[in-house]
Amino acid sequence: MHVVIVGAGIGGLAAALALAKTGTRTTVLESSPKLGEIGAGIQLGPNAFHVLDQLGMGEYLLKGAVYVDSFRLMDSATGRQINRFSYGDDFRERFGNPYVVVHRADLHQSLIDACQASGLVDIKTAVRIKNFEQDVNAIRAVSVDGLTFEGDVLVGADGLHSAIRAQIINDGPPRVSGHTTFRSVIPTEQMPKEFQWNSMTIWVGPKTHVVHYPLKGAKVFNLVATAHDDADVAVTGVPVSDETVAEKFAHLVPEVRRIISSGQNWKKWVLCDRDPAENWNDGRATLLGDAAHPTLQYFAQGACMAMEDGMCLARVLGQAGSDVVNALDRYRQERLVRTARVQLGSRLIGDHIFHPSGAHALVRNATLSAMDDRSFREALAWLYDGRQALAA
Ligand SMILES: Cc1cc2nc3c(=O)[nH]c(=O)nc-3n(C[C@H](O)[C@H](O)[C@H](O)COP(=O)(O)OP(=O)(O)OC[C@H]3O[C@@H](n4cnc5c(N)ncnc54)[C@H](O)[C@@H]3O)c2cc1C
Repeated sequence: MHVVIVGAGIGGLAAALALAKTGTRTTVLESSPKLGEIGAGIQLGPNAFHVLDQLGMGEYLLKGAVYVDSFRLMDSATGRQINRFSYGDDFRERFGNPYVVVHRADLHQSLIDACQASGLVDIKTAVRIKNFEQDVNAIRAVSVDGLTFEGDVLVGADGLHSAIRAQIINDGPPRVSGHTTFRSVIPTEQMPKEFQWNSMTIWVGPKTHVVHYPLKGAKVFNLVATAHDDADVAVTGVPVSDETVAEKFAHLVPEVRRIISSGQNWKKWVLCDRDPAENWNDGRATLLGDAAHPTLQYFAQGACMAMEDGMCLARVLGQAGSDVVNALDRYRQERLVRTARVQLGSRLIGDHIFHPSGAHALVRNATLSAMDDRSFREALAWLYDGRQALAA
């Protein structure tokens, strides 16, 4: 079996590594001339660590990770804490793994290293795939330069603007959410002292939310500030001035404005997602990660889902024999409801938890402040207890 994977993001590489663990050879085709990841921190729920453990990387990654001890929910209209949920021992015991934050580049690089060490993954850069063609015996990815790469299976792991999805589903460009996210990483000493918490902190408030957490052994802080500003053009990682960011959050309490003003070298993203699609396969071709189920980041699960996809794909292909078309359908069916729930749930989180104001915000505060650690854990058990999803 030889699998051609389009895209060397976290999803494509996790799939390649999972396939290598089953003895399957892959060719990974990446359009960028250089492998890398933009952005800084990434949150990994315990479900992602179940995958990383199976890939033999959990322990290695944890060395560079920060174990946040809690999830703090703050009200950015009043400055008060709504609740603080523990990620401590009970959480780890319940889900078998911690909640951690890592640097994206560290996760991406360790996937590359592990792929290369496997001897079964061939990563080719500066290859932009435009489409695929297939017959009963094989499938070929075709590059914009006319090169072809043949395999038994083709996986479109080519992200939000996937060319492979365009051919399989043909559902046009992604939905522009109208939400703009600004990201910055600052040295810890620049973060106001009273907020240097070892927490995944979210300030929720009228049409905005602001996230911060420590990274890199708490040497730096990751700031992510999102405004529902009805932006209507997709943007990825464009530098913006400190003043532009400050303006968007000028209506929040001074504490949040102080956090925002400690940011520097801000970059902005206008977020996109899609409605869940039911069929992302065509014969020997399938999709994975953001190409299959792009989501807003509000569950912090896009990359986690992409890694779970890779693990699931490797398992079903490992059991498939020569009937890869049926195996791909089983993969799609196993992944569909879980990933669609993350897509739809992320939108709900934005509208009903992160961005409401007035009475809607009061209901949110009353409901969430009444929740104890146990009910918090059980509300998220479908997501974080990903062992069932992997073993299905
Ligand atoms: C602000 C923000 C914060 C986030 N925070 C989190 C978080 O905390 N936790 C989490 O789990 N997720 C988070 N996510 C989501 C996560 O970043 C994505 O879901 C994840 O990176 C998707 O991985 P992927 O491999 O599917 O796609 P991508 O990372 O987009 O990778 C696709 C790859 O394919 C390549 N490519 C594209 N087109 C072609 C082509 N035609 N030919 C060849 N190569 C091609 C690209 O260059 C890229 O390398 C966040 C997202 C955002 C925007």
